[in-house]
Amino acid sequence: MTSTVLSLVREDLRQFVGYSSARSSTVQGDVWLNANESAWASAADAGASCRRYPDPQPVELRIALSRLYGCAPAQLLMGRGSDEVIDLLVRALCVPRMDAVVITPPVFGMYAVCAALQQARILEVPLQDTVDGFVPDYAAIADAAISQSAKLVFLCSPSNPGGASVPLTEVENMALRLRDRALLVVDEAYGEFSDEPSAVTLLDRYDNIVVLRTLSKAHALAAARIGSLIAHEELVGILRRCQAPYPIPAPCSQLALAALTPEALRQTYAHVDEVKRERERMRTALASLPGVRRVYASQGNFLLVRFADAQTAFQALLSAGVVVRDQRAVPRLSDALRITIGTLEQNDRVLKALCVQEVIV
Ligand SMILES: *Cc1c(COP(=O)(O)O)cnc(C)c1O
Repeated sequence: MTSTVLSLVREDLRQFVGYSSARSSTVQGDVWLNANESAWASAADAGASCRRYPDPQPVELRIALSRLYGCAPAQLLMGRGSDEVIDLLVRALCVPRMDAVVITPPVFGMYAVCAALQQARILEVPLQDTVDGFVPDYAAIADAAISQSAKLVFLCSPSNPGGASVPLTEVENMALRLRDRALLVVDEAYGEFSDEPSAVTLLDRYDNIVVLRTLSKAHALAAARIGSLIAHEELVGILRRCQAPYPIPAPCSQLALAALTPEALRQTYAHVDEVKRERERMRTALASLPGVRRVYASQGNFLLVRFADAQTAFQALLSAGVVVRDQRAVPRLSDALRITIGTLEQNDRVLKALCVQEVIV
């Protein structure tokens, strides 16, 4: 199926073939002398798994991830974290100093970083701070994207740091409005913690939707750097040709595969349930502290909290050995900290540090 989504890719890259690696040729043999690899395993490499260049898209892992996320293997591209695929999207779609991306601050910083590196124009449509939390202004986002011919619209769901999920109906409406005009990127880095279904379920009907997932958060493999982009398979093909030749190190793909066995997944989901319980406990407990102005409802594994005196709260936590994310340099968050949900004991330490502070104040 040919898709109009390819017309959004930079014209000079639509036929781009990329690097032709030794791994990508289809020849057969049992003595491989075509990639200048060593004939001997490294003394450090007990399993001899690293002597040869890895499969650019390790086939078993690709199948396991596509099962996990509910798509076809051909719709999934693995990268070095979702950070790499965000960068790939911006580079492959945006002509420097001409094309634009839409972002919704306050939001994850990498969209703007990648846009700046590519000299893409950045259109900011701020989230609205409402009783329901920080929510996107969907009409304004679509209007900005269409009127300024943006190539990419980034929605973060659940949103970092605000915590709100984007309802699937809003993703669908937006995809419809942006059809043939822009790619709608739904970053679901915290999707495992959310009650909202994944936008992957819309992919068969909307070829301009791109979903980002990662093993860095709920799956506890941040250092393995395994992120996934899920999109129309022709777009996946083009992005793959723009990507580094061997993005997925073999030890990382082996680790990721081991994290996706039914047994490992059971443990992951048990931890996700624990985080969700602790998130609600912490939300209530923090909201009852006199020095806390507001705790935003969250669908992620973190809480955004406004304090009467954020500096003192930050220091009180630091004095107790607890490091949280300072948001005070972020516009509209000058009184806010983002607190990741930890174990029960860690969360209790947060509460204790803030209660002690209350007594002193
Ligand atoms: C943490 C985070 C990521 C980065 O994930 P990696 O896969 O580790 O690169 C992407 N998006 C958001 C919103 C995040 O918070």
